[in-house]
Amino acid sequence: MVNILDGRKIAGQIRAELKEKVAKLDKKPSLAVILVGDNPASAIYVREKMKAAVEIGAKFRLLKRKANTSQRALERIIQDLNRNASITGILVQKPLPPHIDDEEIDCLVDPAKDVDGLNPISPFIPSTALGVFELLSRYAIKVEGKKVVVVGRSKLVGLPTALEFVKRNATVTICHSKTANLAAETKQADILVVAAGKPRLIKRNMVKPGAVVIDVGINRDRETHKLVGDVDFENVKKVAGYVTPVPGGVGPMTVAALMSNLVQASSQK
Ligand code: NAD
Repeated sequence: MVNILDGRKIAGQIRAELKEKVAKLDKKPSLAVILVGDNPASAIYVREKMKAAVEIGAKFRLLKRKANTSQRALERIIQDLNRNASITGILVQKPLPPHIDDEEIDCLVDPAKDVDGLNPISPFIPSTALGVFELLSRYAIKVEGKKVVVVGRSKLVGLPTALEFVKRNATVTICHSKTANLAAETKQADILVVAAGKPRLIKRNMVKPGAVVIDVGINRDRETHKLVGDVDFENVKKVAGYVTPVPGGVGPMTVAALMSNLVQASSQK
């Protein structure tokens, strides 16, 4: 019988814990989110972040800019926020328009306010990776010594998640679009994390019986228009030991982890 890793429930518990912490802080956390362009999915994610910030008692400021905003203009906004003592956390919503150099932008965010953890010298763990670890920890799933396979090597999700597993003493394989035999790799995993952005890429026969399967993917099903993950949930749950649903798995955990980072950044002031 599979165990469902209920990200929605755990994220709710985390927000309630953070709300109590924030109530005790003299200076309330204040998150500034920069949203460039009008990607509809980004607008939804930003709204989720705003709702969570308000729920835990943090302040939220949205800086919305047109898709043709220049690199220089975006840099100036970040520099202003870095200097602004009333802002304790800064997040630049991804993806940015193609003419913007993401890495330059990530490196410009003050590490002490970099609650999304994308500056290479940020003290914070990127929120999706942190959300995955918080979920595993709340279900008492051990990581040390486990064979972990991460499918996807993006700077935002796959790589930081894989790196965190290494830091926590797992043995990690990173797969990507050029991996020769994906199933041969995924079948080895005690813990399988999938962040490929490919609907239902992971089938039942690609999962070791009893494995923990974490589905980071958020995709729109072409036929039903419903949200689906990168894992064929209905079939994989027949073989996995634990699995995250989509929606209601890693998505809410990412937002809760962002709030955790925000409260931590604000407590250090
Ligand atoms: P990306 O497109 O930047 O990276 C995808 C990665 O998957 C690449 O490294 C690519 O090599 C690999 N890949 C693609 N097809 C593959 C295949 N057939 N076999 C093996 N590897 C393959 O995407 P991303 O930003 O890392 O996001 C991945 C997914 O996670 C998307 O569905 C995105 O919407 C979702 N996402 C969810 C959250 C969340 O909070 N749950 C946060 C961020 C992203």
